[in-house]
Amino acid sequence: MAWKTRQRKRQLSSIAAVDYEYEVDHLVIGAGVVGLAIAERLAARGGGSTLLVDKNAAAGQETSSRNSEVIHAGLYYPPDSLKTKLCVRGNEMMYDLCERYNVNHQQITKWVVGQNESDIEYLENLSKKADRLLPRTKRMPGPPTYLLNQEEMRALEPFVKGRAALVSPRTGIVDVHGLMQLLEARTQDHGGDLVLQCEVKGIQKLASGGFKVPMDTPAGPVVVKAATVINSAGLHSDKVYNMLQWPSVSPKAITADTMAGDDASMKDASLANLDPTHFESPLPPLKLHYCKGHYYGYSGKALVSRLIYPVPDKNLTSLGTHLTLDLAGRMRFGPDVLYVDDPHDYSIDLSTVGSKSSMKSVSQVIQTYLPSIKSSSLYADYAGIRPKLAGPGEPFRDFIIHHHDGFVNLAGIESPGLTSSLAIAEHVETLLY
Ligand SMILES: Cc1cc2nc3c(=O)[nH]c(=O)nc-3n(C[C@H](O)[C@H](O)[C@H](O)COP(=O)(O)OP(=O)(O)OC[C@H]3O[C@@H](n4cnc5c(N)ncnc54)[C@H](O)[C@@H]3O)c2cc1C
Repeated sequence: MAWKTRQRKRQLSSIAAVDYEYEVDHLVIGAGVVGLAIAERLAARGGGSTLLVDKNAAAGQETSSRNSEVIHAGLYYPPDSLKTKLCVRGNEMMYDLCERYNVNHQQITKWVVGQNESDIEYLENLSKKADRLLPRTKRMPGPPTYLLNQEEMRALEPFVKGRAALVSPRTGIVDVHGLMQLLEARTQDHGGDLVLQCEVKGIQKLASGGFKVPMDTPAGPVVVKAATVINSAGLHSDKVYNMLQWPSVSPKAITADTMAGDDASMKDASLANLDPTHFESPLPPLKLHYCKGHYYGYSGKALVSRLIYPVPDKNLTSLGTHLTLDLAGRMRFGPDVLYVDDPHDYSIDLSTVGSKSSMKSVSQVIQTYLPSIKSSSLYADYAGIRPKLAGPGEPFRDFIIHHHDGFVNLAGIESPGLTSSLAIAEHVETLLY
């Protein structure tokens, strides 16, 4: 078959003899920003082949190109969560990489704006938490956050309304397409391959070691044997995970909690006495929820020079309809929160989301912190879909990043997944090696 990219380092074997056409050390499924970062990291190790596949015709066509492009500081999530740890580490790694390779970015800073006593109490606690969690580093020597009162706010941002603001100096914005292009180029420079229009259709753990992975390509089906498989399939990571078939094994050895969650005990599950001829899926399926977020553009000159966020929802379903600036200095608002059934539907329904009444209610939300915004200046722009582990109203869920016997499962990589991407890649490498 004709791969789109270079084919070096790949060992070709006869189908008849070994039941697969290609053999690799690392197979990364999904070329979003996270899969690209993982492939780049594993390819850079040298000494082993890395193949990154994506079902689409270009890398980064899904969640990675439909987000706020914010480099988060890691303020909001529970202290021991992967979201906090990987976001804090990823923030620093992201600025380093962007500076070293000239990826367009700006450490523009952000305010979280409080409107009442309970918001102010929340901001004070958030600031104390940031002091505990966010270490001062050579790059970030200043305090991780500090508070402004109403007068101080007015002097800096006269259009913003609020009783107090928490300033996050480590927050910034990045050109995510530039970042993904860099990671793609570096993966290939390190000898890795990116193959597009290549959809994984199944994953079988081989009792003899490694995984057999059938895929569909425009040239027909192909089978890859991979020593390690990394599921970084974003909105489809549940489907990819649910494809996993293990040689017959006692159901007690593998449980849903150990495989889907971050439980080290899975590493000890005995794989002795496998029947290599019989495959089964010993796990209850993983199910993601799709949570659409619409963005609203603003036709006018930007009224602020930093990112402005309201105080977020208690269960962190979203960070609230916030104001971000892109690298061209344009204001946009969003994303809102709408659970949907279809992970492919990025359309914006102009009869509902784009309607006059919807614009009015969005502008009312924004007016709580930016009173001069008029609904007539807003327009429905684009939408992204969050791959969520938590359904509507359910409590906070952390990223799932779990390794067992050569298979690394990533699921629920929603925000702050872009910020965390380089740290996730570092973490995956540590799990495997
Ligand atoms: C509205 C919104 C705003 C956000 N804002 C921010 C932000 O400001 N800052 C931040 O840090 N994070 C943000 N995020 C989160 C961030 O965008 C994601 O965490 C990140 O992009 C996830 O990247 P990914 O590579 O895991 O997934 P994706 O970008 O979804 O990539 C997964 C890839 O897997 C491929 N794939 C799926 N199934 C298969 C298969 N069977 N075979 C082959 N390929 C397959 C898909 O084609 C896709 O390209 C936001 C997310 C949303 C939705």
